[in-house]
Amino acid sequence: MNVVIVGAQWGDEGKGKVVDLYSSQAQYIVRYQGGNNAGHTLVVKGEKTVLHLIPSGVLHPGKICLIANGVVFDPEVFFHEVDALETRGVFADVDGRSTPPHARIQVSDRAHVILPYHRELDALREHHASIGGSKIGTTVRGIGPAYEDKVARRGILVGDLIRPEILRKKLATAIEEKNVLFAHHFTHATTPPKKVDLEAIFEHCLKLGKKLSPYISNVRETLEQALESKSPILFEGAQGTLLDVDHGTYPYVTSSSTVSGGAMTGTGVGPHAVDHVIGIIKAYTTRVGVGPFPSEIEASDPEMAKWIRAKGAEFGATTGRPRRVGWLDLIAAKYAVEVNGLTGLALMKSDVLCGLKTIKICTAYKLGPRILRSLPSNVEDLERVEPVFEEVPGWGDYDPKSVRKISDLPRELQDYIQRVEKALHVPVVLLSTGPGREETIQVLDPFHSPAASHLASGQRL
Ligand code: IMP
Repeated sequence: MNVVIVGAQWGDEGKGKVVDLYSSQAQYIVRYQGGNNAGHTLVVKGEKTVLHLIPSGVLHPGKICLIANGVVFDPEVFFHEVDALETRGVFADVDGRSTPPHARIQVSDRAHVILPYHRELDALREHHASIGGSKIGTTVRGIGPAYEDKVARRGILVGDLIRPEILRKKLATAIEEKNVLFAHHFTHATTPPKKVDLEAIFEHCLKLGKKLSPYISNVRETLEQALESKSPILFEGAQGTLLDVDHGTYPYVTSSSTVSGGAMTGTGVGPHAVDHVIGIIKAYTTRVGVGPFPSEIEASDPEMAKWIRAKGAEFGATTGRPRRVGWLDLIAAKYAVEVNGLTGLALMKSDVLCGLKTIKICTAYKLGPRILRSLPSNVEDLERVEPVFEEVPGWGDYDPKSVRKISDLPRELQDYIQRVEKALHVPVVLLSTGPGREETIQVLDPFHSPAASHLASGQRL
């Protein structure tokens, strides 16, 4: 069985933990979009690891981690993560023998490279846009500019880093426009950008290529072989559905396909390869960066927002920014069910809400006199909607270590789960009761449950 994991909100739902858990069942774990704008947090035996680029399955000995074509790849961040993991002895095989990291991690020769000028351009654009009040609030990791170069057909591929002749030519094309922009467009920049020097960037890339060469491979072919041999694959999505470049709250989105379809375009496997799509969803909602967020409570209930943010440690794993907080939005979640074809939900962080007398759920939007029960496709309308909240009883504290099944949970939390399942027509297959691996109730295992294509129409998992 092969499983895709996607964020069902605006990212930061807790995908890292679920990928880590499901990785024990998979042989291959593949990142298919985004880059080091992601911040996947894993807590194993009390030790916290934050990964930005390397798939979250890396903590499981013997598993193969792939970075596929659709990812924008920053080699400097990659080596930083590899070094940190190596120091911790993560690259031991199942018998405890140390293996070279490249035996466990492969990077597609067709992934696009993030270079220093992409990061610089991202920062300059954000600064420039903030003057006009139109910034996106990006992670400033160069993600957007690298994807821009990709679709403009002037990107540098990972495979180019080990082909000097091609590399020099492509770099010359790529930096030509950048230098015009740097010299003439960003006149408000606090530190004026320096001209990108072809020779210096060429040498820099060659060095990176040399170090990277053992990791570079044809990831699509590896996946095809995995499919043939029926080795289980876990497709690890990053960011969230509402940040998708086609289906999210454009223009307040990231630059990649964060929805389940991105697993296909980003790796080169067909839809037949996917048995299940699991949407990760928090019991409340957060968003970082600018853009519409209908169920946000920062203005209407700042004390509650502050309380949830502190208890849920809702600060960006990549940038440290405080996340905006709101209640669970069933309209946005239903949209995520539809655009991803979700077959199951992993419900995260319900433990954060323990102790609240009542909890709110957004069940509709009000737009002027109209009540909307689905997400408006136009972002200006989404910015104007008001949330319609339903208030449900909260639940008391429970010991995450002693609950083994849903029926061990407080009655009110069981009702809440049922309410979500009924509204979304998708079962909760996993419930997280705390950050650790062991603080989890697995209701259904997608790696051993009927394939989505074998389910009757309308039925999920
Ligand atoms: P970019 O991906 O850095 O270009 O940022 C574009 C938007 O996506 C901004 O609002 C970011 O805050 C948001 N974003 C990017 N990556 C993540 C993530 O992993 N979690 C949550 N938000 C993200």
